[in-house]
Amino acid sequence: MNASSLIESLSPLAQPTGAALPSLAGATRLQLAAALAEAGVPEREIRMRVAQLWHWIYFQGATSFDAMLNIAKPLRAALAERFALTRPQVVAEQISSDGTRKWLVRLDPAGAGDKGAEVECVYIPESDRGTLCISSQVGCTLTCSFCHTGTQKLVRNLTSQEIIAQLIIAREKLGDFPGLTPPSDGLLPTEGSRFISNIVFMGMGEPLYNFDNVRDAVGVFSDGDGLSISKRRITVSSAGVVPRLEDLGRETGAMLAISLHAVRDELRDRLVPLNKKYPIKDLLQACRTYPGASNARRITFEYVMLKDVNDSPAEARELVRLLKGVPAKINLIPFNPWPGAPYECSSWERIEKFSDIVFNAGYASPVRTPRGRDILAACGQLKSETQKLRARALLSAED
Ligand code: SAH
Repeated sequence: MNASSLIESLSPLAQPTGAALPSLAGATRLQLAAALAEAGVPEREIRMRVAQLWHWIYFQGATSFDAMLNIAKPLRAALAERFALTRPQVVAEQISSDGTRKWLVRLDPAGAGDKGAEVECVYIPESDRGTLCISSQVGCTLTCSFCHTGTQKLVRNLTSQEIIAQLIIAREKLGDFPGLTPPSDGLLPTEGSRFISNIVFMGMGEPLYNFDNVRDAVGVFSDGDGLSISKRRITVSSAGVVPRLEDLGRETGAMLAISLHAVRDELRDRLVPLNKKYPIKDLLQACRTYPGASNARRITFEYVMLKDVNDSPAEARELVRLLKGVPAKINLIPFNPWPGAPYECSSWERIEKFSDIVFNAGYASPVRTPRGRDILAACGQLKSETQKLRARALLSAED
């Protein structure tokens, strides 16, 4: 591809309103190529310059063009005239007693009338890994009845740049770029050298309704010359947008998680209304043919444990029957309550019984330990709570 056709095939970088320059932090290789062309770099040099910028932005975590010592000064100046390396602003950081960290990220306004939406991302450290849970949309259109995010209306899709920026911000906050110091106030993984080894698209939004940007972000995350997160450690979680599953496997090579939550259509229609469009049978058929799935690369089935709704031993047995022929593992998620939620979490006894049945049928069935509940960072608790807390703070300030 030559530079001009590269440029035509690009989605534009975010154009901040006001005086701010567009940022290259979070850009794809194609976007960097276009930026370099705009800064006057001749076509024959573009590939080499993209590689240099890539190294500085994603390997070194550079925040200014001045730091890029192997790029000649006049080009650094030409870039700095037109572009910045700013990140979306972290407006709040909360640290749980269990080491989970939650960042509230304010995105740049997308255009006139947009005040700058906010998303949350959550970092979950364990001894041998660190997982970053990121958002793909502001809000969500799916209205799953047990999910708090589903009670908000969708504001918009995130750009690939905004999805990627969440990882850059997290690594910066964890002191995980050369020259930075890790924080001393919390738990970090002790085995292995990376603080963020895994990424899950389990924050706000339905990633498969923002397919192109999620695909481009996975490409940047997994690029070996930059952020270098192995594709086997990037998991895209979906409520089951069946027509997009094959594309996801083929175009990203990411791991797949499916939010199943019920074994009968009548119940799943109520829990995950998307089921009315793509019922269980079609969903599982698409999983059977998911590109790249194998016993070594299993699909995770998430199953939220709702008291007296979907947690009976009979349902556990039906789950095992349904998953026959699918390379699967099952992740039981204790329901995380939120104010006004129409459900309760199953008892531990009930969860254990369910897990035993699944385990005895030969499936790994870990129960996901709720993390960061004290800072409202657990599954399904994102964002809307923060808005409520803020509204409450405002109200009390007015008293
Ligand atoms: N839209 C995607 C990803 C976001 S949700 C999806 O549906 O998979 C990430 C996971 O958290 C999903 O499995 C979701 O069903 C689960 N979840 C949502 N609300 C929850 C809650 N209150 N308690 C426990 N898990 C929840």
